[in-house]
Amino acid sequence: MGMVATAERRAPIRRLDAALAAKVAAGEVIERPASVVKELLENSIDAGATRVRVELAEGGQALIRVQDDGHGIPPEEVELAFQRHATSKMAALDDLFQMRTLGFRGEALPSIAAVAEVELASCRPGDAHGTVVQAHGAAVTRLSPRGLPPGTTITVRDLFSAVPARLKYLKSRSGEVAAAQSVVAHYAMAYPALRLSLYSDGRPIFSSPGTGRLEDVLAALYGADVTARMLEIDAEHRDTRVWGLVTPPDVSRPSRAYQSFFVNGRWVRNRMLAVALEEAYHTHLMVGRHPIAVVYIALPPDLVDVNVHPTKSEVKFLYDREVFAALRGAAGAAVLSTMPEPGKTLGEIDLPGAEGAVEQQALGLDGEASAMPLAARDEAGGPAPRPRADMMPVLRVLGQANSLYIIAEGPDGVYMVDQHAAHERVIFDELMAAAPGHPIEAQFLLEPLAAELTVAQFEALETCAEDLVELGFAAEPFGAAACLVRAVPSVLAAGDPVETLRELLEGRATKGEVADWRERSLTTIACKSAVKAGQPLALEEMRQLVYRLETTARPRTCPHGRPTMILLSASQLEREFGRRG
Ligand code: ADP
Ligand code: MG
Repeated sequence: MGMVATAERRAPIRRLDAALAAKVAAGEVIERPASVVKELLENSIDAGATRVRVELAEGGQALIRVQDDGHGIPPEEVELAFQRHATSKMAALDDLFQMRTLGFRGEALPSIAAVAEVELASCRPGDAHGTVVQAHGAAVTRLSPRGLPPGTTITVRDLFSAVPARLKYLKSRSGEVAAAQSVVAHYAMAYPALRLSLYSDGRPIFSSPGTGRLEDVLAALYGADVTARMLEIDAEHRDTRVWGLVTPPDVSRPSRAYQSFFVNGRWVRNRMLAVALEEAYHTHLMVGRHPIAVVYIALPPDLVDVNVHPTKSEVKFLYDREVFAALRGAAGAAVLSTMPEPGKTLGEIDLPGAEGAVEQQALGLDGEASAMPLAARDEAGGPAPRPRADMMPVLRVLGQANSLYIIAEGPDGVYMVDQHAAHERVIFDELMAAAPGHPIEAQFLLEPLAAELTVAQFEALETCAEDLVELGFAAEPFGAAACLVRAVPSVLAAGDPVETLRELLEGRATKGEVADWRERSLTTIACKSAVKAGQPLALEEMRQLVYRLETTARPRTCPHGRPTMILLSASQLEREFGRRG
């Protein structure tokens, strides 16, 4: 019975008609407006363009126009460009393994024409007239020749209007603009000599200066202050060269969205590359934090397969271990260069068993140390706080090691206190003590600071300007992708309030986490306000800090959950020195 029913429901095999087949195939290459932007931009770059202007209307659905000053298309080849598998970039199979152009499959233009109305206008430098054609589906109509500036302009209208199923999957207009902006920004990074601009509904969204310097592109994208801190990486291993810019460990982001990899001029996603990069920062970055990085890799084309995915955004390396090692090594050297010179300080001495002490402390906070009776606070004169499971004893500061650890003595042994983590805890608890509804103390600026924002950050600002006031920030949207900051939290005044604000907005833009946004934001503010590793502190400053730490409710961990201190217990020291069996 069941078999019969299934057989009746099953439709017979049929050939798809050509137009339908073309639309299905187009779906592999053209998913959304940003894919059109990517394909057209790649064509412009392959045509040797030095300037490319990208325009969108209504998030790209109504119109996408890409105009370049490249070498143009000969009049007799214009129709051919819209034929499937028609390309000027590959003639024989062997070429596939020597590709130096971004395109080579001859699929972009026919795929776009399958799902939109396309107009192509192209003129070779020196030609009196340019060619203009309209393409829709398989039909290509030639219009009369026209005087045109040298280069090619492709206009794509009504994307997916005949493919409603695709339309449903598009995000909001601003979401599509953001995706297109990401494509344009990445090609700007890949080709710093290219002058690239993006407009949305007539408004300028992004432009790169085309100076040939990556730093200038990054300053436009991530701000001049962050860019100035970035470190060069450069390494060569056999035929593979790896170079670019990465941030030092103290400049990080809560997501990997700020890491870009380019292989032979192509923006790619590749997990192995991300892992290699982050291995270089291992233990120097907190869990959940990621470096900003722009990494270029160049290697002979036959050692990398770009033909893994229809949009060529994924690659496979023939010798991926070598690429991995080259990147990890190059980034690792940059990270190491930021570390203080090793000296003979207490913090440097590698005591056997010290790790055990960390573990013991981290795991058993109610163990040996806190079971000890607390010493009475004599010099401060105040009442001794009531002992709690995670409290710390009163410490006597001895000095500082490595410009990072406060060395102190307690009733149960020697403590090393991480000055940054400890300060973070102190500030965080003080900020959290401000009841909701009572904004934390703000400092108004004599002159507002202008801060450039990403589209996501800008949108977040529009939804949370009032919540920001609670956190001591006053910021208002400015232009299309920036804001004016009029007040900043007082604790942050000496730090980097603009960068902090960007991070708060970034945290807000991450969906579904609005509930704990305030607490996460206070963690960020505390982190950005706290004294940094590497900063020498006077004895009095250290005493103050330790005293404030003693009075917090959870002195033993920072707001991220890392330990603020480790204990070398008296009994452990005795054991290590062979004083006790
Ligand atoms: P592919 O880039 O894989 O060759 P496309 O469908 O993207 O395939 O483009 C087809 C051909 O049209 C290209 O090989 C190129 O010769 C020509 N072409 C497309 N866009 C441009 C442009 N902006 N400038 C010059 N030639 C172009
Ligand atoms: Mg192409």
